Amino acid sequence: MTNTTHMQAVGDPEGLPRCPIMPTYGPPSVEFVRGEGSYLYDLHDRRYVDWLAGIAVTSLGHSHPAVAEAISAQASKLLHVSNLFATEHQVPIATTLDRMIGDGEPAGGQVFFANSGAEANECAIKLARRYGGRGRHNVVCAFQSFHGRTLSTLAATGQPAKWEVFQPLPEGFRHVAWADLDELDKALDDTVAAVFLEPVQGEGGVNPASIEYFKGVRRLCDERDILFMVDEVQAGLARTGKWFGFQHFLSGDDAPDVVTMAKALGNGMPIGACWAKASAASAFKAGDHATTFGGQPMATSAARATLETMEAIDAPAMAAEKAAEFETALMAIDGVVSTRGLGLLMAVELDGVDARAVAARCLTEGLVLNGVTDTAIRLTPAITIPSEVIAEGAEILARVIAAVRSEAAAEG
Ligand SMILES: *Cc1c(COP(=O)(O)O)cnc(C)c1O
Repeated sequence: MTNTTHMQAVGDPEGLPRCPIMPTYGPPSVEFVRGEGSYLYDLHDRRYVDWLAGIAVTSLGHSHPAVAEAISAQASKLLHVSNLFATEHQVPIATTLDRMIGDGEPAGGQVFFANSGAEANECAIKLARRYGGRGRHNVVCAFQSFHGRTLSTLAATGQPAKWEVFQPLPEGFRHVAWADLDELDKALDDTVAAVFLEPVQGEGGVNPASIEYFKGVRRLCDERDILFMVDEVQAGLARTGKWFGFQHFLSGDDAPDVVTMAKALGNGMPIGACWAKASAASAFKAGDHATTFGGQPMATSAARATLETMEAIDAPAMAAEKAAEFETALMAIDGVVSTRGLGLLMAVELDGVDARAVAARCLTEGLVLNGVTDTAIRLTPAITIPSEVIAEGAEILARVIAAVRSEAAAEG
């Protein structure tokens, strides 16, 4: 009955012959109808602690009043006009993002607005090709990386299992071992336009880069006039304890040439952005790239309210503080071996229990998180999560790990 998944979750009120939703996500077991801060509520009004926040999306919590007000005001003012015209929020957001990338000072870049992470990355890849010119179009990425599900971002993604069945893929991507400068050095010939890396590999298991690695990449790129592009779709916008993940490793003039972002930018409204230094962005000419919806008033109203709120609460400092609270709460749980990641982009390594089984059991017990490897769960909670909700979730997680362990022991 793999085709009746949504109907299993929500019942079968329409008497449809099959689930009308494509089976790409596997069977959902819960239908959520509303959210408030770090709590979610299902069809039966049952409350769940949310440690996932839509996988790093609702960083200010669900139904944030500033974002809700911005969206509802915009809805009755102007929803959409073509990008042939200017609209109210694009310039303020682009200016704010440029200042965040410059860590308080203007970084000297320009922004293209998209609708998603994959689309922000498509923009970066097209910009790299335009910058490199004919014959110098290759983009070098890392194994275990994740850059999206469109054909070219899938080709950039360093996980063959995700793309093998979709071959042939667009050409022009190479993969090298993560955090290996020697291998990267060998891959950089005169057909390469850009190196494209995450500051913390998110989907690939939560693997942070290092100062040595990112400084080395910057140097190799500078020596050959290759763009250093950073995918901040998951790590960006305060989650790691800095505005952008790369800022843990690079500063000032060392900043990347291109930075992409999306997930947290609209606190749940779909919006992505590709920022590039003006020297790189100027490779694009009018007509080279476009999108109907990217940067439209509705999405940008949400992004503007999100960024203003993040600045007002000093979201990077708050993320660092909450990450320390999580660390203490998690390490006190029997069965937790270690945590890794940066700030609130965190993996928790478990001892002798199946992490995906733990994640599934947590959901039935009222805690939302996900399994990122066979042995680790991933947490990407709201940056605003209250201390009591950290404690409440930790209590559920401890109970679930103990239950899964004793069941496995009884079976084995
Ligand atoms: C989620 C993610 C993407 C893809 O974003 P979509 O909005 O799903 O297209 C790209 N890169 C990274 C690092 C991500 O985590």
